[in-house]
Amino acid sequence: MDDRIFRDAMGKFATGVTVITTDIDGEPHGMTANAFMSVSLNPKLVLISIKENAKMLDKINRSGKFAVNILSEDQQEVSMLFAGQIKEKREPEFDRLSEISVVKDALANIVCNVYGKQVAGDHTLFLGEVEDIVLREGNPLTFFAGKYGQITAPQLT
Ligand code: FAD
Ligand code: NAD
Repeated sequence: MDDRIFRDAMGKFATGVTVITTDIDGEPHGMTANAFMSVSLNPKLVLISIKENAKMLDKINRSGKFAVNILSEDQQEVSMLFAGQIKEKREPEFDRLSEISVVKDALANIVCNVYGKQVAGDHTLFLGEVEDIVLREGNPLTFFAGKYGQITAPQLT
């Protein structure tokens, strides 16, 4: 099967956008990711998928810890920065939570310890056990058909 038709099909699944962060030798590293899901409530587990040539893979293997930062609609530039889509040097703002760097002003910062991992083709799946969470109000950045977008939360009245 052609890669393009696979990507086009996967792109029909609208997602939010996250930045995965971890720290190595006191230095933060971030990577944009939309392969993220909630897995279990007891224990509280989430799943991310990191491609084999991403710098993030070795960094999470070494740190044993990562944060999932769910981006707001105002953070498309943050997503582009951590996807390598902005070429000029930037100094992104990080906060600290449970001894790890997290993305400032994200809708959620979810700090996890690696609970398990599984190599799956050209990606590695990491299960993370959630250690700490910070939440903020706002609307999400979305990714659909290879394009960023926004949604407005439905009014319930
Ligand atoms: P790099 O490519 O070196 O880093 C990414 C970028 O972040 C670079 O521009 C780097 O300069 C910058 N950066 C990182 N840390 C810092 C810092 N501390 N200060 C300043 N800049 C910094 N790939 C996956 O494996 N899984 C996914 O689920 C996934 N989902 C994606 C979803 C979307 C919407 C997009 C656009 C891309 C997705 N990617 C995904 C691709 C992935 O984001 C890129 O391939 C990314 O460049 C890989 O990052 P890296 O760890 O190899 O590091
Ligand atoms: P795209 O058309 O490549 O992405 C559409 C969908 O295809 C994504 O949402 C994802 O579900 C899937 N996909 C894309 N690349 C994949 C990969 N290497 N492995 C597994 N699934 C993949 O959209 P785009 O705007 O061209 O993407 C921008 C860049 O980000 C591309 O280089 C793309 O490969 C990368 N990306 C990677 C992943 C991933 O590795 N899981 C996910 C999304 C985007």
